[in-house]
Amino acid sequence: MSDITNHRTLGRSICIITGASKGFGRALAHKVSEGWLKPGSVLLLVARSQTLLQELKEELQSFTEEQQTVVHCVAVDLSTREGVNETVSMARQEAGNEIDHVLLINNAATLGEISNFASFTNIEEVNSYLSLNVSSALALTAGILQVFPCVPLLRWSVVNVSSAFALQPLPSWVLYCTAKAARKMMFRVLAEEQPHVKVLSYSPGPMETDMQKEILRLTGVKHHLLPCQESADKLVKLLLDDDFISGAHLDFFEV
Ligand code: NDP
Repeated sequence: MSDITNHRTLGRSICIITGASKGFGRALAHKVSEGWLKPGSVLLLVARSQTLLQELKEELQSFTEEQQTVVHCVAVDLSTREGVNETVSMARQEAGNEIDHVLLINNAATLGEISNFASFTNIEEVNSYLSLNVSSALALTAGILQVFPCVPLLRWSVVNVSSAFALQPLPSWVLYCTAKAARKMMFRVLAEEQPHVKVLSYSPGPMETDMQKEILRLTGVKHHLLPCQESADKLVKLLLDDDFISGAHLDFFEV
């Protein structure tokens, strides 16, 4: 096992990134693979699109080969029990390996319907949104905590990819704001309850992704957007420095 007081790498990790097929998750997969994972690490890429995950895996393997990181694609729908269970099972298969860092990045999310409050009368539609955007992050994190219980010298980090809208209400964005606010509290509870787990809610700033294309289509509002890599660099630096307070909510523009 490596010296866990030296975090200038992410260590010999099992790194699980949800929503890795596109956008910010994909940029993060590239970033962590740029030499920050020690040989023997395992990267689990989770999203629904098998084709995009497979393409990403091939991109990563072209430069991670010499670092001996094993990359697995987990093509599942995380809004379902089966999708969460399959991801946890895949992680369990790697639990026998000698790893010194569990890094779970809860990034997958959707924008959902943008509409006035009074339009959300359909409880199934609301539940379906919350299922991916809130419940799956809880159930997946809980499952991975069971697979890798606290043992000496095992570093544990959980990232909640958050948003400024976890803090700030925005008319017509009730689904998105509610989910991000709920997740922020969910991960604060984890930080309080499990002192061995370092928890970070990270708001990545407005980035050039499909989600932003959807925002433009639905609202007509065009934002100044960052390349995903720029925000991914900042998040990985935060994880390497590891000097944030567990449970903190940090914003791209403030760190
Ligand atoms: P994208 O819409 O570009 O990507 C979302 C990712 O989530 C995709 O990989 C998608 O893969 C995956 N995903 C969606 N639904 C499911 C599902 N049911 N099961 C499994 N995976 C799923 O989003 P961004 O990259 O823009 O966003 C990433 C994170 O950053 C989100 O949490 C978002 O809220 C947050 N954020 C984004 C901002 C931005 O400006 N883009 C600003 C602030 C926060 P697939 O379709 O293959 O399943």
